[in-house]
Amino acid sequence: MIEIDRLEKSFGTNRVLDGISLTVRQGQVVCVIGPSGSGKSTLLRCVNGLESYEGGEVRVSGRRVDRRSPEIRAIRREVTMVFQRFNLFAHRTALENVTEGPIYAAGESRASAEAHARELLAQVGLTGKEAAYPSQLSGGQQQRVAIARALAMRPKAVLFDEPTSALDPELVGEVLTVMRDLARQGMTMAVVTHEMGFAREVADHVVFMDRGRVVEEGPPAELLTAPREPRTQDFLRRVL
Ligand code: ADP
Ligand code: MG
Repeated sequence: MIEIDRLEKSFGTNRVLDGISLTVRQGQVVCVIGPSGSGKSTLLRCVNGLESYEGGEVRVSGRRVDRRSPEIRAIRREVTMVFQRFNLFAHRTALENVTEGPIYAAGESRASAEAHARELLAQVGLTGKEAAYPSQLSGGQQQRVAIARALAMRPKAVLFDEPTSALDPELVGEVLTVMRDLARQGMTMAVVTHEMGFAREVADHVVFMDRGRVVEEGPPAELLTAPREPRTQDFLRRVL
């Protein structure tokens, strides 16, 4: 579903992605871990065309991701993103935040978008909060609205960029539960996270990135418990 092949990306003279290759197959959950500044967010942003890149290639369902191609809007609907900061529209209700994309970007009718949004808000445990504004919701609830919004486009895959890092510790679990359920339903997911418990339990594949490269990758039981590379060992010692 998502194929990243020797991807290269620089900001000025700073080479942020240095030949990254990574595949996410349909129904797979791939967790990306690594120190701050290693290029994880940039990698996800290249996948749905929020960033351009200079070398290598990103393909979604076999189509090349190119920020300037006319197909990019369709690709962004196919692969949606959940950010660390929820980025909800402050002056729109939870329901309106979820229906905005389907109505204005995908041309869905209001009635159909609202019916779907109510289902999605129920799925993330927010029945009864449809009319609430973001300021009236906890961080965990806001992030669950953001997940419902990402699902509203009926994506084939969802990218998560540290979705629990901005949350108070007691609110992390409710968001991870929603993500775990989504994975169980077969959603294809790429998740940048520092939640090693989640990675161990939910990921099919874990990738450790450092300085724009994949240092080591493998099934969670191997990579997280018996890493081979010193840099992976050092990182895991610090986060576990
Ligand atoms: P991570 O998500 O792993 O913390 P990022 O992808 O955010 O890493 O950043 C990787 C590197 O790219 C960092 O050195 C960061 O400063 C740099 N960077 C990220 N975005 C930009 C940008 N828009 N302009 C310039 N440098 C950037
Ligand atoms: Mg980041």
